[in-house]
Amino acid sequence: MPKPTASESSEQSGAFRAFIAQKGLRATRQRMAVFEAARTVSGHYTAEDLLKKARSLDRSVSRATIYRAIPLLIGSSVIREVDVGRDQKYYLAEAGGANFRAQLICESCETIVEVDAPFMEWYGKAVAAKHGMRPISQKLQVTAACLNDRCPRRGAARP
Ligand SMILES: [Zn+2]
Repeated sequence: MPKPTASESSEQSGAFRAFIAQKGLRATRQRMAVFEAARTVSGHYTAEDLLKKARSLDRSVSRATIYRAIPLLIGSSVIREVDVGRDQKYYLAEAGGANFRAQLICESCETIVEVDAPFMEWYGKAVAAKHGMRPISQKLQVTAACLNDRCPRRGAARP
């Protein structure tokens, strides 16, 4: 996962501040701690993971702050929601690229691998055009099984 560069980070911070100002909200210390945490937790994370990280930056961040900040972070393209059909939602820091992304999801453990899938965008446009339509959104998720012993569930299931 590429880390955002310094200029990307100040660009995102500006976009986030502008977005919340437009909603009539202030860039409080707590909100900015959530913003910082949302960009720095690596890989896919849950709201609880985000809370833990934000609290390590600012002890006064509450769970309510997290849940109110998440739509703001999504709206300003700092993070995006990744729904893998589990009870909880996952979030991922936007890497800046506009490439179509797909997910590989282990059906046994927590592993979610994000991959570039630029062909999917082309494919969506091509099949939609063939039927006189225009794509609005599409997703590709592959349910899979880890093949190695790193998968905790697979490891546990063995005699
Ligand atoms: Zn696994």
